[in-house]
Amino acid sequence: MYFLGEYWWLMIPGLILGIYAQIKLSSAYNKYVRVPTRSGLTGAQAAREILDHASLSNVPVEEIGGHLTDHYDPIKKALFLSQSNFEGNSIASVGVAAHETGHALQHQAAYAPLKWRMMLVPITSFASKAWIGLFFLGLILGGPFFSKFIWLAIGIFSVMTLFQLVTLPVEFDASRRAKEQLFRLGLVHNDERAGVSEVLNAAAMTYVAALVTSALQLLRLLMIARRRS
Ligand SMILES: [Zn+2]
Repeated sequence: MYFLGEYWWLMIPGLILGIYAQIKLSSAYNKYVRVPTRSGLTGAQAAREILDHASLSNVPVEEIGGHLTDHYDPIKKALFLSQSNFEGNSIASVGVAAHETGHALQHQAAYAPLKWRMMLVPITSFASKAWIGLFFLGLILGGPFFSKFIWLAIGIFSVMTLFQLVTLPVEFDASRRAKEQLFRLGLVHNDERAGVSEVLNAAAMTYVAALVTSALQLLRLLMIARRRS
């Protein structure tokens, strides 16, 4: 099983970037969750304003448990905000809530990368389990089976990297739409822009880290396959 350690150093940049992004996100969020918006709006109220102005009154804004579990569900066509962002009236809460409405706006506009991402979700959940199983099966069976299974595993794994890649434009575009609406509707004042951007950029960084990690893992699998085939 020594292959588990082969080219292990390729995983270091992703690991460091991932930890860095998490620290950046917690520090930006913790900093701006203490700064109330001048409008006094909560995350839920800001989201409601944006959705209503976009003729999305049919999209409910609901509270959900957990920390930073905020998301837009394209199947239920509903926005879910964690308690601190739903009830909180901080720059961080309003920024995150607006970001989630950005996904609802993408859905309404039939934004192509969002559609690709939605298509990839079920395949990705299968792929995340299948690739490792095939990889081990190839190792156990060995011989001619190894190269067949490992290439199949790599093919399946690459779907996950593709998913991370498609996620990037979806996330950056949602933040762009969020900021546009916050400022256009006057929900956030000029001097509050930098805070909103800092929180949303830090959140986007975690998706960049996930892509880098996935791409390097793919490269590592390719190198293992090449060496052993
Ligand atoms: Zn998002």
